[in-house]
Amino acid sequence: MIPLALVAACIVLQPAKVGERLRAVSPDELRANVEALSNFGTRHTLSDTTSPTRGIGAAREWIKTRFESYNPPGGSLRVEFEELKVPPGIRVPNGATVVNVVATLPGTRPESVRRLYYIVGHYDSRNHEALDASGDAPGANDDASGTAAVLEAARVLAAHPLESTIVFLCTAGEEQGLLGAKGHAENLAARNGPRVWGVLSNDIVGDPLGELAIPAARVMAKKHAGKPLTAEEDELVASAKEARRVVRVFSEGLPRTSDPQALSRIRSNSAEYDSPSRQIARYIASIAELERTDVQPRIIYRPDRFLRGGDHSAFNEAGFAGVRFTVPHEDYSRQHVGVTERDGVPYGDLASFVDAEYLAGVTRLNLAALIHMANAPSTPANARINTKQLETGTTIRWERSPETDTAGYEVVWRDTTDWQWRHVKDAGNSTELILPLSKDNVFFGVRAYDTDGFRSPVAFTMDSRE
Ligand SMILES: [Zn+2]
Repeated sequence: MIPLALVAACIVLQPAKVGERLRAVSPDELRANVEALSNFGTRHTLSDTTSPTRGIGAAREWIKTRFESYNPPGGSLRVEFEELKVPPGIRVPNGATVVNVVATLPGTRPESVRRLYYIVGHYDSRNHEALDASGDAPGANDDASGTAAVLEAARVLAAHPLESTIVFLCTAGEEQGLLGAKGHAENLAARNGPRVWGVLSNDIVGDPLGELAIPAARVMAKKHAGKPLTAEEDELVASAKEARRVVRVFSEGLPRTSDPQALSRIRSNSAEYDSPSRQIARYIASIAELERTDVQPRIIYRPDRFLRGGDHSAFNEAGFAGVRFTVPHEDYSRQHVGVTERDGVPYGDLASFVDAEYLAGVTRLNLAALIHMANAPSTPANARINTKQLETGTTIRWERSPETDTAGYEVVWRDTTDWQWRHVKDAGNSTELILPLSKDNVFFGVRAYDTDGFRSPVAFTMDSRE
């Protein structure tokens, strides 16, 4: 009988230095960056590019300078503008040049340097008028918060490159239809160059209470005045507390690029819940558990919220795995709206609504996932279960990961109705494992680990004749 160890229980080698990096994330830096970005007045994609203090031009110069300031003497962080010509469209009536700010930290391991992991935030903003390029649009939560997370991750990692390459991407044109991310991802897909192995997009990650904020503040004021709370009010206080410890992580099920043949293969393997993006989402959950991060992911098996989109989808569209981080509760009176005041209550996407401690928690979760993924060996290729004949056990095979510090492989499995990998068996340095478990009853996956104890995201096993 195979011992059914829990995945978390089996990961005993907690790689050193991860905690040190996570502790370096600073709420003060994040707060200052959200405020600085909001103070450009608007960062609308079509706003002023000549003023040194207002508009998207000033904002991107500031972001670029910020990245450059993180590079230590002799450091390898490369910072550049990426200019994309966009043809006229509904939200860009005259066409536009959309400019992303891209900072790249090359990987230290030759076999891994062409493996790219992304942390993404969009630095453009908008108010209630999609085409208002001059009115105030501070975009603090949407998405100065995500941009600040990207900057902070770069600040923490700049002097400590990982084995794979990390790209810190601040996009523009997101509010015009993901223009910056789309152009960037399409260029990568078209080139026979480095490949994207995982994208963490942070969009609206600063204001966890959302629609609970105003009622929760009212109840807290009542509590501080020494008045007794009703059961309902107690519940609200508990929900508000819980919200500060959770971030939603969205991921697509069926890869957008699947052609009919790929879809047929997914159907026959029941792999509808096992896209590469879903493996990244599960990975984030297992790393959050391992590193005991203050903010824990709530994994949602959906590409995004209804009626909304984000940059991760542009990467998915180009064939790359990617997920989106977003706060647990939203307040639509603070998104894509004008700045105003009603009955003494401020409205608008203002920096004062961003909770820097929470944003630091989300940034740490991103950073933990990046450090583990980028230092681990590649996810094993061609992971498969042998379905040549009827048999009660299962033969699982895969290819070796190319990294020279690969120490071995693990086969993981879960019930077909379970959301997360639950069981694990070490296969040592072999590329095959035979388990006395029926392939009909569970899903199998394979991952690689290295000599430092870093584990790769899981490769889902598909049926194979060999
Ligand atoms: Zn956004």
